[in-house]
Amino acid sequence: MSDFYDLAILGAGPGGYVAALRAAQLGDRVALIEKGRVGGTCLNVGCIPTKALTTSAELLLKARRASEFGVSIPSALPDLPSLMAYKQAAVDRLVGGVEQLLKKRKVALVRGEGRLVRPDTLRVTDAVGEAVEISARHVILAPGSVTARPPIPGLDLPGVITSTEALDITDVPAHLIVIGGGVIGLEFACIYEALGSRVAVLEMMPTLLPGGTDESLARRLAAILQRRGMAIHTGATVQAIELAGRGLRVIFDEAKGEVAVEGERVLVAVGRWPNTSGLGLAELGVKMNGRAIAVDEHLRTNLPNVWAIGDAVGGMMLAHKAMVDGRVVAENVTGGRRAVDYRSLPSVIFTRPEVASVGLTEAEARAQGADVKVMRFPFSANPRAQILGETEGLVKLVCEAGSGRVLGVHLMGLHVTDLIAEGALAVQVGATADDLAWTTHAHPTLPESMLEAALGFRGAMIHFHSR
Ligand code: NAD
Repeated sequence: MSDFYDLAILGAGPGGYVAALRAAQLGDRVALIEKGRVGGTCLNVGCIPTKALTTSAELLLKARRASEFGVSIPSALPDLPSLMAYKQAAVDRLVGGVEQLLKKRKVALVRGEGRLVRPDTLRVTDAVGEAVEISARHVILAPGSVTARPPIPGLDLPGVITSTEALDITDVPAHLIVIGGGVIGLEFACIYEALGSRVAVLEMMPTLLPGGTDESLARRLAAILQRRGMAIHTGATVQAIELAGRGLRVIFDEAKGEVAVEGERVLVAVGRWPNTSGLGLAELGVKMNGRAIAVDEHLRTNLPNVWAIGDAVGGMMLAHKAMVDGRVVAENVTGGRRAVDYRSLPSVIFTRPEVASVGLTEAEARAQGADVKVMRFPFSANPRAQILGETEGLVKLVCEAGSGRVLGVHLMGLHVTDLIAEGALAVQVGATADDLAWTTHAHPTLPESMLEAALGFRGAMIHFHSR
């Protein structure tokens, strides 16, 4: 049996489902092929469930500080079964919401594993082995990414887990070892720390968050985590994981020689790889860029009318980047000619404190030869942050020295994953520090910190005196 559509999309993650919704809105008859649940990694085992856990962790810690706010909460403890139920309900609600939207836009959801058999045809095999061929004028490949598996001996030992297993918390390990001080590693480190684990992080590079985070913020975060009792080992090359009594031992090299740490569980979070094997790509001669599908700025592959988006094309593996790709490609398959524009792509890390950034880091701006002026404003001088009892962190604004054009915004502190939106807009529209400074920010709010940092461009900060 074969069905013909305007558009067939492989993968219903944030890239694929957004492309489907937008293309349907533009009038296309769309088939969306998915082997798992709609929403992909992000909704099911990524962004959404981790943010549910982060929310509970924050509430737990805040409840323990209730007396600071004049509220009596005699004891606050995690209730793991209800915590898991809350997390799953958050996921299910959003998955259900996306399914409803797809239904309303008349997108045909085809359940099964897809494989490209001709440039215009995907063969989809369902759970019982029945196959159907879906043909379309255009095909979008949005297969996402999978957890990277480095060649570390001992990776298959019981108790060595990936982020997917780390989401299902039936008991809290006394000691958790996290391999990889990137985004996933640190978000889970903070979640498990809040639940009561002692956590050690092993990062291969000299600083945490080496993938583009402003180095001064990454160092500050490491210092904050260490002050709280987390063991942070940077420049740590993991040699092996082995059994140690009833737990696990991770052996690694650092500057002072070979060291070992022991724990009950080891979370491996050393990156993700584009999920591109077994899709028929090599057989059809799809041009690759390493493991990633090679695309041009319009997200076109080398095959006619075959496009690719999201984690599978490499670059920043972020749900919101995939969503942008999804909107761009939907326009292009329906006759548009839009190029991707990642200038204002923010990075948001839900650690405690949160870290968020957009645009160039100070080091990147200087390396590009820009004459830069950097302004910093601490949250300790922000009234809202004081009231909330969360004064750790700062706004760091990187501007072009002459014009004041905002080149980069780097934030650490409470809710900065929300606050970065203003920075993204500033970078996108080419706003200057003066534009931010003359935009009235409501009082008392956290975004006033952005305003104050911008005022610093002309030495006009009102609520902070740095000398
Ligand atoms: P990552 O690239 O952010 O971090 C992996 C870290 O592991 C790096 O710091 C790397 O230097 C380190 N590393 C690699 N090999 C190592 C080894 N053998 N020993 C010790 N350290 C090693 O990748 P991730 O944290 O696995 O996340 C995967 C992807 O998912 C990333 O692209 C990330 O941006 C994305 N993600 C985003 C969010 C968010 O936006 N909040 C949350 C989770 C994941």
